Amino acid sequence: MSQLRFKVVDEAFNRKADPVSIPAERPEKYYGCQVFNRQKMFEYLPAKTYDALVSAIDNKQPLPREVADSVAEGMKRWAIDNGARHYTHWFQPLTETTAEKHDSFIEHDGKGGVVEKFTGKLLVQQEPDASSFPNGGIRNTFEARGYSAWDISSPAFILGNTLCIPTIFISYTGESLDYKTPLLRALNAVDEAATAVAQYFDPEVKHVRSYLGWEQEYFLVDEALYSARPDLMLTGRTLMGHESAKNQQLEDHYFGAIPSRVEAFMLDLEIECHKLGIPAKTRHNEVAPNQFELAPVFEETNLANDHNVLLMSLIAEVARRHHFRVLLHEKPFAGINGSGKHNNWSLGTDKGVLLFSPGKTKRDNMQFITFVVNVMAAVYRHNGLLKASIMSATNAHRLGANEAPPAIISIFTGSMLSDILDTIENSTNDQLADLANKERLDLNVSQIPEITLDTTDRNRTSPFAFTGNRFEFRAVGSSANCASAMIALNAAVAQQLKQFKGKVDARLEAGETLTHALLEEIRALIKESKPIHFDGNGYSEEWKAEAQRRGLDCETSVPLIFDAYLRPESVEMFKEAGVFSKVELEARNEVKWEMYTKKIQIEARVLGDLAINHIIPVATRYQSILLDNVTKVKSLFPAEKGEKIAAADLVTIEKISDHMRVIKDEVAKMVDARRVANKITDEREKAIAYHDTVVPCMDVIRYHIDKLELSVDNEMWPLPKYRELLFIR
Ligand code: ADP
Ligand code: MG
Repeated sequence: MSQLRFKVVDEAFNRKADPVSIPAERPEKYYGCQVFNRQKMFEYLPAKTYDALVSAIDNKQPLPREVADSVAEGMKRWAIDNGARHYTHWFQPLTETTAEKHDSFIEHDGKGGVVEKFTGKLLVQQEPDASSFPNGGIRNTFEARGYSAWDISSPAFILGNTLCIPTIFISYTGESLDYKTPLLRALNAVDEAATAVAQYFDPEVKHVRSYLGWEQEYFLVDEALYSARPDLMLTGRTLMGHESAKNQQLEDHYFGAIPSRVEAFMLDLEIECHKLGIPAKTRHNEVAPNQFELAPVFEETNLANDHNVLLMSLIAEVARRHHFRVLLHEKPFAGINGSGKHNNWSLGTDKGVLLFSPGKTKRDNMQFITFVVNVMAAVYRHNGLLKASIMSATNAHRLGANEAPPAIISIFTGSMLSDILDTIENSTNDQLADLANKERLDLNVSQIPEITLDTTDRNRTSPFAFTGNRFEFRAVGSSANCASAMIALNAAVAQQLKQFKGKVDARLEAGETLTHALLEEIRALIKESKPIHFDGNGYSEEWKAEAQRRGLDCETSVPLIFDAYLRPESVEMFKEAGVFSKVELEARNEVKWEMYTKKIQIEARVLGDLAINHIIPVATRYQSILLDNVTKVKSLFPAEKGEKIAAADLVTIEKISDHMRVIKDEVAKMVDARRVANKITDEREKAIAYHDTVVPCMDVIRYHIDKLELSVDNEMWPLPKYRELLFIR
């Protein structure tokens, strides 16, 4: 019966580590060998072209048309020298993957043969026939033109035999249809706003850059087991499966020794990363069995995000080489930790100063406090929006579940920063000056460097934590494009800093000193944004009640959480920052609701199929074996004795039939609920219907299937169980 299950378990269990071809050289020799970085540009481009390109990149200017041909020619030569045969514009549409359409370099040579050519026109802009990318109605099919245009700030690279050119993707009418366009806009907005504020402290500052260091969590499952689980294959998560008796209770997986098969995979992955210029640095076991993490050294946000998107496709490919399947889903297994993607985020000036890092001087620390407090105010004001920016059908399973931040955004500051904020809030400027004069506390601020940098009282329950020199946005989901969170965060902070600057300038004009003006505005922000500050246990029930009292966004329904994008204050903020127009926001929300519906729809179909065609038949067969046994017992033994012997079986038979009845009823109910929901044309209403009427049926069905798993003969159970999926080495 369950021969397949035992066969795949056997296969997985006996698999050995795959060999890794380790380059003979050290990483510094092959790092970035597949990237058209400055060193390659210098080597392959004429000096004038090189200068023009580098200057365009550094000054965020468009590449002059007249040099594009020369850049294309050099890039092509480099690509061909490195085995490339095709090129593609590589972009990030509103799906969860990247899009690429490959063209070879060949053109007719006029003599019956071909030459390999690549022009500036093809490099800089293309018009992909891309009518079936999600666009929320922005592009009608009769006007299905979209343009991809080269983002020169992110270097081209070779993947396999293809030259990949990172591009933005916009509609014929200029609306963004991707993640990169609004991200670049948000980064410009924060650069401008933060530079203006940073100039209070150092007039020489010309730019402020946003940095991102993501930590990618993932699960690995042996490919044989994966192939025996239709739910994993089609939805990326297990829709059923009783908890394993042992899972993460013993805390023996986190930072544990990495199994040899996994270590071989990781090494292979890191080598591939390094060749592609992704600075992979940290690897370790995560909390749940078979869960791991990879983190690179942080980079500028746009590049870091491209690298994360690239990593997500790379990791899948390398995993296959090692007979694994990687699960990037936020909650592949119920009852154990889900996977996130902490977004470590900071701002830094072009003078090399990290703005969330306490400094050595009073001026540095005033700057530090200024920026930290403005971030807190922005996160407070837009807490509902930030939650919407990380929310998805898949991340909804993780937020609020095991060892994951709740679906409420709050900020953890740690006691050191907390004390500083309290001191500023509760002292007058004269008192603060007094403190400073006594050279005792010096605003309580100059002491920070030594202490904060050692601060390790990390609060793992916080969705947004200050961690010494950066903020860690932890609510981001493992399968998400980080850009979504980074767009909302950088744009919100840009708006806040701009307003702050306006208020401080007004005070300066009225004759206040800079220190006085800053302190007054900082104090006001500390008071105003108090409700967002929470250092306690985010997993507790009390916090949910408390957050409600504080007026934080506590909505848990995914389709309703998306509404935050269309609230007047969000529309205004995105418009001010030049990130999204209202039309773009509306279109994107259409896509979000549609995606939500489709994901649930697919899961519901798979679950219905598994329940009716896999589970019920097996349970029926087992039940009939038991019935057979009861009949035989009763015919062999005298009445009373027969009853007694058959009693236990009868209880099981009844239990099984109870579960089967509920499953059948709920599947029917779920199908009906889908039928009703599918008739709704409004995407938001449809998503709400799926959330309110389909999802609850799925939960009930799962509960009863998991109970059946405990009753039915192990030999007969058709799907690999949690204990088999999670502990195979
Ligand atoms: P954790 O202890 O939180 O798990 P990791 O070492 O796994 O830390 O990852 C921390 C990530 O934060 C790395 O990608 C690191 O490069 C990044 N990071 C460190 N400092 C900054 C910073 N100032 N801005 C952005 N990212 C940073
Ligand atoms: Mg980590």
